[in-house]
Amino acid sequence: MSRVAVVTGSNKGIGLEIVRGLCKQFDGIVYLTARNEKLGQEAVQKLKSEGLNPSFHQLDITNEQSIQALKQHLQDKHGGLDVLVNNAGFAYKAASTTPFGTQAEDSVGINFLGTMAVSKALLPIIRPHGRVVNVSSQVSQMAIKKCSAEHQARFRDRSIKEEELVKLLNKFIETAKAGKHEENGFADSAYGMSKIGVTVLTFIQAREMGKDSREDILVNCLCPGWCKTDMAGAKAPRTAAEGADTAIFLSLIKPKESQGQFFYNRKPIAF
Ligand code: NDP
Repeated sequence: MSRVAVVTGSNKGIGLEIVRGLCKQFDGIVYLTARNEKLGQEAVQKLKSEGLNPSFHQLDITNEQSIQALKQHLQDKHGGLDVLVNNAGFAYKAASTTPFGTQAEDSVGINFLGTMAVSKALLPIIRPHGRVVNVSSQVSQMAIKKCSAEHQARFRDRSIKEEELVKLLNKFIETAKAGKHEENGFADSAYGMSKIGVTVLTFIQAREMGKDSREDILVNCLCPGWCKTDMAGAKAPRTAAEGADTAIFLSLIKPKESQGQFFYNRKPIAF
């Protein structure tokens, strides 16, 4: 049976470059996924015109029905999957006038809760030797330093449970809506807090996979660096392809190479 890789949010930006790279380097079928079917199919056609051969499936990471439809498809057609790259993400522009509470809810909702929902559905069908790669950001490192000592200790505790992490980020949203997130020990960055969620979730998933009966499932996260995409704008120094490099590298790492680490430029860094 063919091996299968899935990349979320891959109709453009870093995700599209991860798909492009995996089509060239991964020995198996690569799924480009997008919440907007038309944009996804257009991206697939673009890669096909370059001689690559990605498959497509719709996926909105905030929609449970959409997540379950992808899971069912992977189970029925391939009997599982081998590589999951949780790349889909969202950030409000710095100049946005959207109230901070809404920014907190949307950012945490997509980046953290969406990534968690996809993982909850798909990790159970990952085969032995599978790889899970979560695209986080070094903004999570900046944000954690702005949190209270008490919250820093909770987020950095390698025995923290998923329920507690969810509770902490829900508290962030709730206090952000009341304009009281900073006095409650959270950073003043909706995106940063959401990416703390992604980073800490990675550590939790890695710990769980380390105990799993399936052999050698490795979970790591990374920062792609500041890349020229619709999210980060034209001033960013890196290309999206350069940003995709570490995600592709982590999708293809050898057995036991790394578990539960935060990577930048293919190297583990401290969180
Ligand atoms: P883009 O805005 O270019 O692409 C984001 C992708 O995520 C798009 O395909 C978008 O789809 C998709 N997406 C957003 N919401 C959802 C959703 N609910 N369900 C499914 N897909 C969704 O951003 P980048 O390529 O720059 O970002 C990719 C990842 O890298 C993100 O996780 C981001 O946080 C992270 N990152 C980026 C950095 C940078 O400098 N660019 C730096 C650090 C981290 P659609 O086209 O429909 O909106």
